[in-house]
Amino acid sequence: MPSNRLTYRRRQPYNTKSNKVRVTRTPGGELRYLHIKKRGTAPKCGDCGNKLSGIPALRPREYATISRPKKTVQRAYGGSRCANCVKDRVTRAFLIEEQKIVKKVMKEAEKKGGKR
Ligand SMILES: [Zn+2]
Repeated sequence: MPSNRLTYRRRQPYNTKSNKVRVTRTPGGELRYLHIKKRGTAPKCGDCGNKLSGIPALRPREYATISRPKKTVQRAYGGSRCANCVKDRVTRAFLIEEQKIVKKVMKEAEKKGGKR
């Protein structure tokens, strides 16, 4: 009769976060622990905190092993800010620049008007 007690298959003997297991049945019909890796977390937008789409959720060390195109998207701030936040940034920068031009033009017009 097979015993119903399972044992860890690694040296770490405690039930810690990094030592999680699942019971699986081997092809030989034996039940044994399968050690589960911790889940990765998806990178988030630095402005709104939403998950960045197009970038996989991996453990920190795993990001070092995948290639650059898998960690970023081809856009300004790709892989750091989401598309909506970049859109906002572009719009805001454009409006600020426009404001500056308007101010400059107004000043010049005022100068010309004062001289006359
Ligand atoms: Zn965002």
